[in-house]
Amino acid sequence: MNLIVQKYGGSSLADADGIKRVAQRIVATRKAGHGVVVVVSAMGDTTDELHDLALEVSPLPPGRELDMLLTAGERISMALVAMAIANLGFEARSFTGSQAGVITDSVHGKARIIDVTPGRISSALADGAIPIVAGFQGVSQDSKDITTLGRGGSDTTAVALAAALGAQTCEIYTDVDGVFTADPRIVPAARRIPVISYDEMLEMAASGAKVLHLRCVEYARHYQMAIHVRSSFSSREGTWVAEAPAAQPEENGMDQPIITGVAHDRSEATITVSGIPDKVGVAAKIFRVVARSGINIDMIVQSTSRSTGQADISFTLPRQDGQTAMTVLRGVQEEVGFDSLVFDDRIGKISLIGAGMRSHPGVSADFFGALADSGINIRMISTSEIRISAVVDAADLDSAVVATHRAFGLEDGQAEAVVYGGTGR
Ligand code: ADP
Ligand code: ASP
Ligand code: MG
Repeated sequence: MNLIVQKYGGSSLADADGIKRVAQRIVATRKAGHGVVVVVSAMGDTTDELHDLALEVSPLPPGRELDMLLTAGERISMALVAMAIANLGFEARSFTGSQAGVITDSVHGKARIIDVTPGRISSALADGAIPIVAGFQGVSQDSKDITTLGRGGSDTTAVALAAALGAQTCEIYTDVDGVFTADPRIVPAARRIPVISYDEMLEMAASGAKVLHLRCVEYARHYQMAIHVRSSFSSREGTWVAEAPAAQPEENGMDQPIITGVAHDRSEATITVSGIPDKVGVAAKIFRVVARSGINIDMIVQSTSRSTGQADISFTLPRQDGQTAMTVLRGVQEEVGFDSLVFDDRIGKISLIGAGMRSHPGVSADFFGALADSGINIRMISTSEIRISAVVDAADLDSAVVATHRAFGLEDGQAEAVVYGGTGR
């Protein structure tokens, strides 16, 4: 019997009716002759609500306790889905991440999966039961404490379990019909991408397209696991994330597209360190203290004043790490000898992604031209082989996405993308 892992996101499980609908879908898959393992997220915006609650009792909650709290969201869903399936006459057994054998490192809030030992899941399957696993969580190999995999991490639980169980495919059910050329909440004319390569999906996810968690795509590429992203509210074919299809000759008279899509990210902030003395090793000192606190830096820009010879360095980092970074940098201000620090979270990042840009000159010029035509000022730029990103004012981000999407002719002339549910939070 072939095995399918199905993951249902929070918007698909928003209320009792949603849970009953998902249960029907799971049972239908089973009746069609497939083995099914299910991974669930927390209902609706539960994770955000629990997080807000934590901040009401403590401005900086200890990571261990925050993880313990947030994982409760997925436990509620798993038990309710199992009950709804039982009500349809099938046996379902719920498991926490720890019970499902999801073993992680001990970095609370963004733990990495280091092993998956799904013995209890295999036994449940062998007994004819449908296993329902709480996503987004695991247990630390060293401390044995409960960990979370970072926001959106249930996708990663699903792919990791699919790989460990040797599943045929991993289906990610969400509130849109697949991966689109831009977020359908901002660009209703965005087009569904039928097949996307792991590399392009990695860049989209890393650039903020939250429809898939970045690590889930890394995992899928590593294990060559095919992912089918689709809506739990429709029966339409979604997007297949798989190895790049062999280069196609001209199809219907059209070349392979140069651009895959436009992604945006509102989760970052910038820090500017000003008046840095022009000496060897100063930048290394600044970035070393930030890295030691476990903070990942994305873009970096340095400018040197001709008159003073002093430098300014600006960099982007996850907004949630802003407070920690400012504290550690203040701690080395005297030693490094810089003048001032400024934190700015009113920024957004827009990225243009496409494997075709490798061999196509002029993509950056058209991208910057599209932003300029809309009167949007660019603050920072970074590129990879298949991506160009720009940091702009947060207030300009949506219009930047719309303008870029249009400038590269990515619109679907026929249909509007449907957003079936969710608050987009
Ligand atoms: P779930 O709760 O199912 O995990 P998420 O909110 O994490 O759902 O991800 C789905 C959302 O991702 C969509 O509702 C959409 O707003 C957003 N999104 C961002 N970029 C894209 C994109 N390129 N294609 C599809 N959805 C996108
Ligand atoms: N519930 C978690 C979150 O909201 C995990 C997930 O949805 O994948 O981030
Ligand atoms: Mg998600």
